[in-house]
Amino acid sequence: MPLNVVSAPGRKTSGRSMTTPVGIVVHHTASSAKASESNVIAMCIRGVAKVPGPLYNYLIGRDGTVYSLAVDGLKANHAGRGNKSVLDRMMKGQPVSGKAATPGQISANSRLFGVSIINDGLGQDIPTPQYEACVAICASLCDDHNINPLSGVIGHSEWTSRKVDPTFDMHDFRQAVVSRTSNVPGLTRLVIAEKPEQEAALVAALTTPKEQTTDLTFPGTLKRGSRSESVKLVQRRIGSTPDGIYGRRTQARVKLWQREWNKQRAYTSNALSVDGVVGPMTWKQMNFRDIDLDWAPNSFFS
Ligand SMILES: [Zn+2]
Repeated sequence: MPLNVVSAPGRKTSGRSMTTPVGIVVHHTASSAKASESNVIAMCIRGVAKVPGPLYNYLIGRDGTVYSLAVDGLKANHAGRGNKSVLDRMMKGQPVSGKAATPGQISANSRLFGVSIINDGLGQDIPTPQYEACVAICASLCDDHNINPLSGVIGHSEWTSRKVDPTFDMHDFRQAVVSRTSNVPGLTRLVIAEKPEQEAALVAALTTPKEQTTDLTFPGTLKRGSRSESVKLVQRRIGSTPDGIYGRRTQARVKLWQREWNKQRAYTSNALSVDGVVGPMTWKQMNFRDIDLDWAPNSFFS
């Protein structure tokens, strides 16, 4: 059986190109389990907050449909900064060493495909067809780009300690990719097909003007000891469990977020204070919009 890949309507056709790909980073979207799949797909093409789309090269629906979000060879903004030692291992064909110990400093999206399943990352089940399609698209990319699955297929949490995705076991996943590539050589090549019944919903979601979203009003300074719904929004933005209680861990992750934001935006903006406090500037840069209430990525560089 060939792997059917659906061309998502509105997928990116121009942008920065990848150089020779050396690997694949596997993700989940951290989208709300209640969000419609059309909206998630559209958002991943368009981008979010400070990150222009596509947010991945391939996105996998819960029914196992694989959506191509950009034409072949375009770079997607998916992995953020990670560890040079990990990239070095991939390029030398050395097996993945496990979860990353540090956030890392380098960007390598031009060398790494981004593949993501639609999943909230908070315990939502992963249907078998979705998991199998994720294996299949990775196997296909490995075949087409001469990537060794054991060294070249990593989870986002193996790229950077900032991330926890995906939640499934990557050792098992890599073994599944290996069996798919070696058992059916040549049969997993991509076939791009359209899926007309989904097109109308996708186009509608894509053409919703950005202006329909509004910035959420600053609720007042949020800091250690704060408890509110706004704290939950902050926690979702920084990838913490959204319990609404601004404790020591939330404070530490806000600091990390502020430090990363400064690194990425240093050339365009004034730096944020790295103080673990969400004041008006940090709130503004976290860029909360009403649409986030339905779909909040785990951070601005996911
Ligand atoms: Zn990720």
